[in-house]
Amino acid sequence: MLKTRGYAAEAATTPLAPFDFDRREPGAHDVLIEILYCGVCHSDIHQARNEWENSIYPMVPGHEIVGRVARVGAEVTRFKEGDLAGVGCFVESCRTCENCKEGEEQHCLTHLVATYNGTERDEQTPTYGGYSNQIVVDENYTLKIPSNLPPENVAPLLCAGITTYSPLRRFNVGAGQRVGVVGLGGLGHMGVKLAASMGAEVTVFSTSQSKEEDARRLGAHHFVVTKDPQNLEPLAGKFHFILDTVSATHDLNMYLNLLRRDGTMVLVGAPEKPSEVPAFSLITNNRKLAGSMIGGIRETQEMLDYCAERNVSSDVEVIPIQQINEAYERTIKGDVRYRFVIDMKSL
Ligand code: NAP
Ligand code: ZN
Ligand code: ZN
Repeated sequence: MLKTRGYAAEAATTPLAPFDFDRREPGAHDVLIEILYCGVCHSDIHQARNEWENSIYPMVPGHEIVGRVARVGAEVTRFKEGDLAGVGCFVESCRTCENCKEGEEQHCLTHLVATYNGTERDEQTPTYGGYSNQIVVDENYTLKIPSNLPPENVAPLLCAGITTYSPLRRFNVGAGQRVGVVGLGGLGHMGVKLAASMGAEVTVFSTSQSKEEDARRLGAHHFVVTKDPQNLEPLAGKFHFILDTVSATHDLNMYLNLLRRDGTMVLVGAPEKPSEVPAFSLITNNRKLAGSMIGGIRETQEMLDYCAERNVSSDVEVIPIQQINEAYERTIKGDVRYRFVIDMKSL
């Protein structure tokens, strides 16, 4: 067993605190990764606080992991000691169901092994995430990390990057389209950068007037403050595609109303309480309301390579792990520019 240090939530109401635990010795197909940086996703907060009502404690959150390979198993072919490596939201799946075979492992029909707040394939051993100094992962669930981007800026791509890239690709977002991004946080700022890089005309919908200048620097062409619903009226029926990244319950209809004929709104934000959608919000203009969950391994690698080629990565605030509880509070307030990333040297 490998003695491992991390930070864990012991219960929904307690702050994260130092936690020691064991990881398995790397098997023949595993890589041992010494973690350099781990992003702080709002999903970490939802789960640490049991907002999705499926939490397992103690919980070591963290699924935006970048590190250096410290050791490889005998059969590993894709990685060698010293390589940069990444781990996202899951570390194993059944590999045989139709979704796994099609490279959409995140929708595994048998058992998706989440990076944390899950169990290994034995359905007993808890998984622990990236707020820790090392992790052991099968090489097939490990991503290659481009070396031309700073690793701390790459870490958030492992969740925020792929979660926004995947629906933008699936719905063929590109030049000639008006695209809205709702919420300028970790996911939202990646949605803006990626949609702009694909050639779309991007509008940010935000509750925070103070983010306007940043939004434009990130690539947005327009910025709309949503606190006053009147600001949205002139935009009714104008948008081809809207990506909703908001982490708290909010009115979806004010955004659905902005979709043009056959337009699509995709929910990636996962608030704890449901929203109401009257049929007429969708019937009008043949609108579509869809959802999207992260992305498979193949598409995550495609996204990393895409970002490396175009020099796209996350805007981050690097923190020592001792500031994690404060970072959670600031994230909830929308006060992060635009992703907290933990420097694991501080652990
Ligand atoms: P985040 O950094 O906290 O960003 C969320 C943004 O939503 C905030 O910056 C804020 O933007 C806006 N917002 C927050 N509270 C709001 C409210 N009450 N009303 C209106 N807007 C509000 O969070 P994140 O890490 O990007 O994650 C966003 C959501 O996506 C979370 O629910 C997370 O669990 C979920 N998620 C889903 C997937 C998936 O696979 N579908 C993957 C990762 C995360 P403004 O200041 O601009 O208003
Ligand atoms: Zn996440
Ligand atoms: Zn499967």
